[in-house]
Amino acid sequence: MKYAIIGAGLAGLTSAHEIRRADPEATIHVFEADDRIGGKLFTVPFSSGPTDMGAEAFLARRQDAVDFFTDLGLGEDIVAPSGMNSLVYTGAQVRPLPRGGVMGIPSSPEPVAHLVSGETVARIDAEGSAEPIDWRVGGDANVGTLVRERYGDEVVDRVVSALLGGVYSCTADDLGVRATIPQLAEALDALAEEGRKVTLSAAVRRVEDSRPQPEPGAERRPVFGAFRGGYAQLYETLAERSGADIHLDAFVSGITRNLKGFHIQGGTDLAYDRLILATPAPTTAVLLRELAPEASTALRSVKLASSALVGMKFDSAEGLPDNSGVLIAADEPDVRTKAFTFSSKKWPHLAERGGALVRASFGRFGDDGLNSVVRAEEDDLVDWALDDLQAITGFDGRAAGLSEIYVQRWFGGLPRYDETHLGTVATVRRALADVPGLEVTGAWASGVGVPAVIADARAAAQRVLG
Ligand SMILES: Cc1cc2nc3c(=O)[nH]c(=O)nc-3n(C[C@H](O)[C@H](O)[C@H](O)COP(=O)(O)OP(=O)(O)OC[C@H]3O[C@@H](n4cnc5c(N)ncnc54)[C@H](O)[C@@H]3O)c2cc1C
Repeated sequence: MKYAIIGAGLAGLTSAHEIRRADPEATIHVFEADDRIGGKLFTVPFSSGPTDMGAEAFLARRQDAVDFFTDLGLGEDIVAPSGMNSLVYTGAQVRPLPRGGVMGIPSSPEPVAHLVSGETVARIDAEGSAEPIDWRVGGDANVGTLVRERYGDEVVDRVVSALLGGVYSCTADDLGVRATIPQLAEALDALAEEGRKVTLSAAVRRVEDSRPQPEPGAERRPVFGAFRGGYAQLYETLAERSGADIHLDAFVSGITRNLKGFHIQGGTDLAYDRLILATPAPTTAVLLRELAPEASTALRSVKLASSALVGMKFDSAEGLPDNSGVLIAADEPDVRTKAFTFSSKKWPHLAERGGALVRASFGRFGDDGLNSVVRAEEDDLVDWALDDLQAITGFDGRAAGLSEIYVQRWFGGLPRYDETHLGTVATVRRALADVPGLEVTGAWASGVGVPAVIADARAAAQRVLG
């Protein structure tokens, strides 16, 4: 059987590996437009050690992902974070991130009282007695609109957008509740189905109450994990284990099908029996134009958010706060960065290198116009990162000795999971059910996080294997 996979990011490489496991004799060809594999996983060889300039962590609570890495022989290389707290910068001050709640949305005013005005505190307190939310069971709503209506703008702009922005490169106003915080949507569904009053505070409390309480004395498992040698360990292992023939610099511009199979424009002359598209949504929409026009049209509505990262290695960590990082409130004036990760504080294996490693990130959905921060000159991005870092934390990066810098832009880095997204994905899946031998996967399909991308790619491979 001959398989073609378009895209050698995490989804494409995982699919290739899954196919190889099931079909050792398969011919597997992967076509990748770039000159390297990994896509948004990208480990850069700093002289101080391998350093991730795309994704840097994964949700270690996803046991399926941890088991997958262990099966790949990478279990020993999974490292845990230090557990240092993160901060939020708002009102020109760094403050602790709120505890409890869900994605910064509290069930009562206490967790956010240090971040918002007295008026907002009173509003959160009174939310339970306001008119109920007009919630449609199974539907979705915009996160920003919902939280603004119930708790006011400060909770959205100072807390929720900062937290969601760290995952999606979007503010809360560009994201859907079910699409990004499904447990909250399910709690709203449950309140409505049980005939109870649907309020935000009641739904958040329900989520909080449903969280399993750790057994007394039980060891707390870290929420996140990473690879000692960076994500390159994962994508290189997947590529090698898949035994696939990976074609780099192979930009696929179209796909046709005839009785012999799928034909890849920009690929080889072979006809393939099975095809997996593991490309970002807009590319997948183009490649599906002839094969599945309805799916192609639906996918065109998925927009992408761009961002830029500046990785900085300093000779000294003197004065860098003992925190994992700081998120910047979306309404904070005079700050260009969106977040800082104090990587060498967050990850003990990076602290072992000495000095300090810091990642500055820029850009939220819509910030990629001609004069946007994401398109700024590299020197400007580095200057802004250093200036903001000093203004926010007092750490003077120039004085600390900046020994290595890497600037990475991610144009279209993440799909926008807005309130229409899940409907779009359902339409695409329905339309593709009629096209045998073809599957689609990737960050737009079942979630952007590494475990979600792996699970979706494995499922796509299983379906294509039949
Ligand atoms: C800055 C950033 C930080 C992140 N941090 C985290 C994190 O810490 N933890 C986490 O869990 N997730 C994180 N993510 C999300 C996660 O990295 C991604 O969701 C995941 O890596 C996407 O994998 P993918 O294979 O779906 O897509 P991609 O990585 O985009 O791979 C798609 C591949 O297709 C190729 N391609 C595109 N068009 C064509 C074409 N026409 N022909 C051939 N090839 C083509 C591309 O070059 C690319 O290599 C982050 C994402 C970004 C952008």
